[in-house]
Amino acid sequence: METILVAGGAGYIGSHTAYELEKAGYNVIVLDNFSEGHREFVKDYKVCEVDLADIDGIRKVFAQNKIDAVIHFAAFAYVGESVQYPEKYYYNNVVNTLNLLKAMIEYNCKKIVFSSTCATYGIPEHTPISENQKQDPINPYGNTKLMIEKIFKDYDRAYGLKYYALRYFNAAGASPEKNIGEWHRIETHIIPLVLRTLTGESKNITIFGDDYNTPDGTCIRDYIHVDDLASAHRLALEKLLGGSNSECINLGTGIGNSVKEIINAAERVTGKKVPVVIGARREGDPDSLYASNEKAKEVLGWEVKYTNIDDIIRTAWEWEKKLHAMKAAV
Ligand code: UDP
Repeated sequence: METILVAGGAGYIGSHTAYELEKAGYNVIVLDNFSEGHREFVKDYKVCEVDLADIDGIRKVFAQNKIDAVIHFAAFAYVGESVQYPEKYYYNNVVNTLNLLKAMIEYNCKKIVFSSTCATYGIPEHTPISENQKQDPINPYGNTKLMIEKIFKDYDRAYGLKYYALRYFNAAGASPEKNIGEWHRIETHIIPLVLRTLTGESKNITIFGDDYNTPDGTCIRDYIHVDDLASAHRLALEKLLGGSNSECINLGTGIGNSVKEIINAAERVTGKKVPVVIGARREGDPDSLYASNEKAKEVLGWEVKYTNIDDIIRTAWEWEKKLHAMKAAV
């Protein structure tokens, strides 16, 4: 079976994808600098502790292992932080990806699956968002991801690099049978923040604006289960290993849920009341973002398992309780 290097494999989506690949029989090698990732998530794999800023460190990984393809998750992904410290984002996300690509090409490894994002679209012209919509990010994080997509396109033409850029919508949930889940240095995402009001970690959740142009006034997003993201990565990898050309593909359920719907779902799933405060709008939040996933179904043969928001939140809640207990034990 092929050997797959999962860069950023100790993170949230990376660890779920590593698990998916391992189940499918691939030989998984995780590369991570553990700046954001968790050692607890990668105990079952061969791990190379390398920072992508260290080109010789990357070269050594390729020299010592025959790597057939790379899945690349290693990036900073906090929108607010990217506005405050763009340099950090351009170096870590863009420059370090160039290092990874340099080593790949030197070692003749020319297949990569990449975590892109719906943030590359910026404020969408219309919903559902399809892959051919204009990409015009509104923050440095989105810019870094779009730049990398463009770099891939040029490297494909010049060096024959084949890539699948997977543009995720809002990753959510956790794998029910594994001790992995969403665990960020700074938590900004709505589902864990809602659930933390129920573990007692925080007092309430602030809804960032209830005067949007949506049926209940709160923003609509497309929450896609992390196991569904993982299966899409495996399918994209299989396409590349089978000789496919490069593609850019949205990964979402195609269903939008508002912030209030998320809160209602969390209350249904947990049987507890979520303490809510209505606050001001957060800068840069479009009214509504949800995917067209027709291309993913057609090209990858992808099927979304989690189409019901309650089921997604149930897995997030199981994980959040485990995480709360882990934090308490330290
Ligand atoms: N949101 C909120 N309160 C919070 C965090 C998020 O109302 O404390 C809203 C946010 O304005 C957006 C939605 O929840 O409309 C999803 O935000 P998140 O940060 O989870 O993901 P994003 O869509 O920004 O990637």
